[in-house]
Amino acid sequence: MLIETFIRKQLRLKAHRVTKVESGGDRMMIAIDRLGNRQLRCGVCRRRCRQVHSVRKEREWRDLSMRQMPLILRYQPRRVQCRRCGVRVEDVPWAEPWARVTRALAHAVARLGRELSWQGTARQYGLNWKTVAGIVQGAVRYGLRNRKRPPVHWIGIDEVSRRKGQVYLTVVYDLERRVLLWVGEDRTEEAVKKFFTQELGKRRCATLQVVCMDMWAAYVNLVREHAPQARILFDRFHIVKHLQEAVDEVRRSEMRRLTGQEKVTFKRTRWLLLKNPWNLTHEQKERLSTLVRWNSPIVRAYYLKESFQLFWEYKREKRAQDLLCKWMRSAMCSRLEPFKKFVRMLRSHLSGILPWTKLRLSNGAVEGMNNKIKSISHRSFGFRNAQYFIAAIYHGCARLPLPEEI
Ligand SMILES: [Zn+2]
Repeated sequence: MLIETFIRKQLRLKAHRVTKVESGGDRMMIAIDRLGNRQLRCGVCRRRCRQVHSVRKEREWRDLSMRQMPLILRYQPRRVQCRRCGVRVEDVPWAEPWARVTRALAHAVARLGRELSWQGTARQYGLNWKTVAGIVQGAVRYGLRNRKRPPVHWIGIDEVSRRKGQVYLTVVYDLERRVLLWVGEDRTEEAVKKFFTQELGKRRCATLQVVCMDMWAAYVNLVREHAPQARILFDRFHIVKHLQEAVDEVRRSEMRRLTGQEKVTFKRTRWLLLKNPWNLTHEQKERLSTLVRWNSPIVRAYYLKESFQLFWEYKREKRAQDLLCKWMRSAMCSRLEPFKKFVRMLRSHLSGILPWTKLRLSNGAVEGMNNKIKSISHRSFGFRNAQYFIAAIYHGCARLPLPEEI
């Protein structure tokens, strides 16, 4: 088979032909021309058009490489007279309108972009970062338009911060299928409302049963308004996070109080206090017990944290509630201000905490995805613009269908 024929078949050309293949230094140039008088298609509506209006100047498209030689397609696109759209540039079968790479290359880039950073993907294919960004955004647009939308029952709402908490995004997961449903800029009520109104819509909001989230009034209001039938469950991991913050605050204020010599002993004790005790090494346990012997506010904080964790084991709501009330009373008597603050938060959110005993659901189910988002954010210093970051999250976590390969 001639190379021309091979390439024509690969590109599935019907109204075009390959006229010449030549190597031009480190790349292969493929000249394409019209095949006889075969009808060309309109670039807007893709209908066949009888009449060619004019010939435009030559354009180039990057294609996949052959034995490390990038293939470049060259062709002078025609402008056709479409009966519906008027004079338009023809639809070329190997690329999307306005794209400078072929569909095959775009597809390969989109696939690799799921595994690698955009910079890595660009390097792999000898493209620049912007081209990769454009291809991924296109793939995400296609995926969002064409993805399946089964009814959702359990969702988890979470936030992701970028640039050390200066910029927030809100992410929504389907906890049943463990897939990302939506990403939105910011975490305000106004911003997250779009998830309920635009992404879900009235009909799909009606099937929601459980919404798992942080104790954040904006989210609560939205669920009450758009899915009043759904149960609100405050996420276990977020509650534990608030608890650990309380421990940490006690530790920090104690550290400020200590003298120089004592400080040395207590340095780097943060993880000792936050880790689960059964995960500590022998040496860490020793240090923890010294710490506990020496300082009473830290001891109280530590025991409060550990005894709170019993709550997660309970299966009967009544008993769990009794335990929690007892715990809250003792925390209020602890003379530790951060814990009092935590108790006040628990008290006002109790109706969304106790359902844990029955539902046993948390955003921990999608922790892997949360970590993935973090790594996407770390490896992409180029995301000055939130839209790129959002596209990268959708691309990596939403299992969107990719455009079909040609
Ligand atoms: Zn048309």
